[in-house]
Amino acid sequence: MQKTLSIIKPDGVSKKLIGEVVRVFDSAGFRVAAMKMKSLSRTEAEGFYYVHKERPFFTELVEFMTSGPVVVMVLEGDDVIKRNREIMGATDPAEAAPGTIRARWADSKQNNIIHGSDSEESAKFEISYFFSEIEIF
Ligand code: GDP
Repeated sequence: MQKTLSIIKPDGVSKKLIGEVVRVFDSAGFRVAAMKMKSLSRTEAEGFYYVHKERPFFTELVEFMTSGPVVVMVLEGDDVIKRNREIMGATDPAEAAPGTIRARWADSKQNNIIHGSDSEESAKFEISYFFSEIEIF
């Protein structure tokens, strides 16, 4: 079984979408293997998005990700990394397929409700960034 990291971003939490998003994952047949709410420090947000540190939107992205609490989750399932990315929809909600999380609820390319690991390598890094082995069920 494959695992991936999901984050309900500060906009998803403030728009009261935690339940909606978890329902989407439950309905997709993913198993929630770990879950916690936390506030990201600037250092944690910068470290998480270090691959984007040269991008022009990096500072704004870190501001956004530290603007309120997030919900971090480990999801487990067959081919869950790819399937979760499909369910999330494209980064820009204007380009996201109908019915996807971002098409339904995201406001902009930045404020797009949800994060999901994009490869096995990033899933491994991102899961261990937030969870220790004993927190994953
Ligand atoms: P993802 O894998 O679909 O989340 O997209 P990326 O890895 O390309 O970008 C990471 C996150 O940075 C996105 O989910 C957005 O929150 C944000 N982001 C991406 N592109 C832009 C942009 O052009 N402008 C701004 N302000 N934020 C962006």
